[in-house]
Amino acid sequence: MSNINRRDFIKMSGAAAAIGTFGYSPFVIGGASKKVVIVGGGIGGATAAKYIRMVDASIEVTLIEANKDYHTCFMSNEVLHGRRDIESIRFGYSGLEAHGVKVVHDWVSNIDAKAQKVTTKGGKSFSFDRCIVSPGIDFKWETIGGYNADVAETIPHAWKAGPQTATLRKQLESMKNGGTVIIAPPPNPFRCPPGPYERVSLIADYLKNHKPKSKIIVLDPKDKFSKFGLFTAAWKKYYGYGTDNSMIEWVSGAKGGKVESIDARTRTVQATIESFKADVLNVIPAQKAGKIAFSAGLVDDSGWCPVDQMTFESALLPNVHVIGDASISSPMPKSGYAANSQAKVCAAAVVALLNEINPPQPSYVNTCYSIVAPGDGISVAMVYRNVDGKIEAVKGSGGLTPADASMEVRAREEAYAHSWFNNITYDVFG
Ligand SMILES: Cc1cc2nc3c(=O)[nH]c(=O)nc-3n(C[C@H](O)[C@H](O)[C@H](O)COP(=O)(O)OP(=O)(O)OC[C@H]3O[C@@H](n4cnc5c(N)ncnc54)[C@H](O)[C@@H]3O)c2cc1C
Repeated sequence: MSNINRRDFIKMSGAAAAIGTFGYSPFVIGGASKKVVIVGGGIGGATAAKYIRMVDASIEVTLIEANKDYHTCFMSNEVLHGRRDIESIRFGYSGLEAHGVKVVHDWVSNIDAKAQKVTTKGGKSFSFDRCIVSPGIDFKWETIGGYNADVAETIPHAWKAGPQTATLRKQLESMKNGGTVIIAPPPNPFRCPPGPYERVSLIADYLKNHKPKSKIIVLDPKDKFSKFGLFTAAWKKYYGYGTDNSMIEWVSGAKGGKVESIDARTRTVQATIESFKADVLNVIPAQKAGKIAFSAGLVDDSGWCPVDQMTFESALLPNVHVIGDASISSPMPKSGYAANSQAKVCAAAVVALLNEINPPQPSYVNTCYSIVAPGDGISVAMVYRNVDGKIEAVKGSGGLTPADASMEVRAREEAYAHSWFNNITYDVFG
């Protein structure tokens, strides 16, 4: 392939990839083999691995992921509801291997940007020309007294889907009719801003149908949340929110909703003003970038990773890129859709840089669907562009489901949510 064609292709890939219509390109660009090492095989890392191989199959891509299987957080709230099996959100890495990605299951313990080398707990080391890091989130355990990673095995946050999702589901199933579920969402910024409120909605629907005397108390450090009007209207419609018989009580930060500490043995929660006792307790702590971002020196004082928003190259370490939840990509939210979009922009930039041509002008996209009851979905969407090196929302490009949308539209939103799940999981792992 000539340089002109390669340049045009990468240019095209940057724009098309970002809007999620990037198709498979089976050709190979020749030349000396360059090495990319990707840390973390979640939504961001797996997408970047696949797309680099699709754009330039001469690049050797090694993906290092701690776990053999990945459980998507998206649709994990449907597992908690009981309308979806946990197996349906589990994905393996054979699809990526078919694209020629070398998949290694190990824990990355160090990234040495100077020596351009990644080392693992298992004692392996991998040299790189460029490294892409997508480690997701870690928790600020110290912000909630009595809560830590060990306690989370029995009082699950379920904010990384997998075994904890199954544990929380089992606890909901075993709870008596008339029990109290406490859900404590985190402060901003955090992974999936509408996620806790979709969780409240779907657990409320499960309780309404199976344990109707039960209630949910939401202890929130915030006074407002994503899609606030749409969620609270749905809670009114389906779960009696705002009445004496409401299944959901939401305690805002201003009303004392911030959780200070928990007693795991008695499932008691101390919030700012009062204490509350739960039968099932789901505490989602404050968040920061995944652990390896800290040990590698990729985070700033905010606890997240500053990047050049054109290429996602770290502002702190050369030749190392950070994408997904761990990166500072505001105004994009920390979502799987955003991680997937950023991964494609980053893949196109890395291929361009390794081929010594200018990275393409990117655009980015995000949609977050939430299901508020079976047959009823809502969404928020936005397209972004890069202006003077910064990601900026394109005015008028997105928006929220209208408050007065018909039930036909709302049912369609749910269908879109499910088809998006099928499409993105194929896009990432297929
Ligand atoms: C309940 C819930 C619902 C959600 N719903 C939606 C939704 O509807 N739509 C949406 O767009 N987003 C949704 N999200 C958000 C979405 O899941 C995340 O934003 C997305 O997974 C971020 O991708 P990532 O690559 O940054 O991190 P992850 O997908 O978490 O991937 C990180 C990976 O890195 C691995 N890893 C970390 N450190 C190391 C290391 N040192 N060595 C090796 N491997 C390592 C981890 O094992 C993990 O597999 C939801 C989240 C939750 C919790």
